[in-house]
Amino acid sequence: MQTQTGILTVVSGFSGSGKGTIMNRLMEKYPQNYALSISATTRSPRPGEMDAREYFFCTKERFEEMIAKEELLEYACYVENYYGTPSAYVQEQLQAGKDVILEIEMQGALKIKRKYPDSVLLFVTPPSFEELKRRLTNRGTESPEAVRARLKRAGEECEGVEHYDYLIINDELEACVSQVHSILQNEHTRLSRREAFINQMKQSFMEYAKGE
Ligand code: 5GP
Repeated sequence: MQTQTGILTVVSGFSGSGKGTIMNRLMEKYPQNYALSISATTRSPRPGEMDAREYFFCTKERFEEMIAKEELLEYACYVENYYGTPSAYVQEQLQAGKDVILEIEMQGALKIKRKYPDSVLLFVTPPSFEELKRRLTNRGTESPEAVRARLKRAGEECEGVEHYDYLIINDELEACVSQVHSILQNEHTRLSRREAFINQMKQSFMEYAKGE
């Protein structure tokens, strides 16, 4: 029986695009299909965030040690903090056949695409700029300067969006969740991901022909 490894899936989107909510709902609906990677970061926890749930919160020294020991699949600096993906969990879940979701920003996403060309990159955006600004301001967890820095960064991220494979416009949560699930299910049927299956079929045909 041929087993298939999972798809390395990258989800980015403007801060305030609602990508986290979409991914949490996706995990809730299809826990057998997906695994969400937990990143390490040097930023401070926001109220309500827990270590090892939202992030592995760590010091700059510990983060730099992880870089030196090559424990990260990718990392980037975002609004003056380090963020990175610990590789062990990702590799383990992919081998177990789960699609692993990395919710990361663009620099990291592009590094992943270069390193793993068969990864799938999704970009999530709110329906308009006004809506993005409103969501970021209403979140209330960020100072006005931090909101400005995030909006500025969002503007810069528009520039790289063409490197992504799919654009998800977050208008309605359940519709977005279904869209992401369909995309990934369809990706599994891509011929390039089914090489082992095809080779097995070819082998069987050859053996059959020899026996004729
Ligand atoms: P936040 O501080 O709002 O939680 O995250 C800021 C940005 O960092 C978001 O765009 C988030 O997707 C991104 N991010 C979170 N974890 C990682 C990571 O492991 N690597 C990279 N490159 N970006 C990350």
